[in-house]
Amino acid sequence: MQPMDRRSPDLWYTEYQKPDMRLGLRIKEILVNKQTQYQHILVVETAEYGRLLALDGAIQITERDEFTYHEMITHVAMCAHPTPKRVLVVGGGDGGVVREVIKHDSVERVTLVDIDEAVIETSRAYFPSVSCALDHPKVEIATMDALVYVKEHVDEFNVIIVDSTDPVDFAAGLYEKSFFATAANALKSDGIIVAQTESPFAEPEIVSSTFLALREVFPISFLYWGAVPTYPTGLWTYAIGSKLYDPRETRSSAPLDVRYYTKDLHHSAFILPKFLKDLIGRDAKMQTKEKACHAT
Ligand code: SAM
Repeated sequence: MQPMDRRSPDLWYTEYQKPDMRLGLRIKEILVNKQTQYQHILVVETAEYGRLLALDGAIQITERDEFTYHEMITHVAMCAHPTPKRVLVVGGGDGGVVREVIKHDSVERVTLVDIDEAVIETSRAYFPSVSCALDHPKVEIATMDALVYVKEHVDEFNVIIVDSTDPVDFAAGLYEKSFFATAANALKSDGIIVAQTESPFAEPEIVSSTFLALREVFPISFLYWGAVPTYPTGLWTYAIGSKLYDPRETRSSAPLDVRYYTKDLHHSAFILPKFLKDLIGRDAKMQTKEKACHAT
């Protein structure tokens, strides 16, 4: 264990994750602290995890562990598809998902749709290792509400990756069945969608409700999981829906420059711990019962 640096001031980033749960990281320097039209942006240099970006008090990325999340939300869907050419990233203004998508040679164009231009500009300025692919010639950026964008595009994408903030305010609609239905229209007949669905310890109801909303729309759907140390509880889930391909199988190869994702991990991520299986299984049964009740 390192001795504490007594010279640095006792300044901490505190994330109020639940009424009775907080995460604390020592701050070395505050770099950005501003309110945009949409959300509050904070960038701090932390002692343990490097630079950290928080939106409305919730960690989005840290330099040290962002690869765990970006690789798992991107490569599972991308490698489940044999030739992903057109990719849509919903949210994801930091550029981490785009960086991973661009690693796949089959990609012809990737479109990033984030509502808040200030997030993109902040990432360009303070997170060059994350935003590095945003100027790639295959990348197109639209700054608008993705709920609107997705409605305006039909039969266009092979893969949609929903890298959104938590389901509040302007992001809430991205976790609903109506959004997944329009996203299904925006996907081609071989399309795959993946969305981050929070922590089963911190937000079990979001995990199950989002997964079930997606499952009502897509004929093939699964939940998978991975580790993200600085997200609440460190255990993260992703819901994946597909029109044609079983996303548990890999059909295209993984990029070489990865640090978390492997083919073996792809397969094992779909093996759920029993409590997680029960969480989505129990709610699915309850919903079937509710449907039966409504029908009578
Ligand atoms: N990995 C992060 C997480 O899981 O918390 C998400 C990172 S990314 C910075 C989230 C982005 O989603 C934000 O930049 C936010 O502006 C964007 N966003 C939220 N709702 C949106 C919407 N309706 N349309 C477009 N972008 C949206």
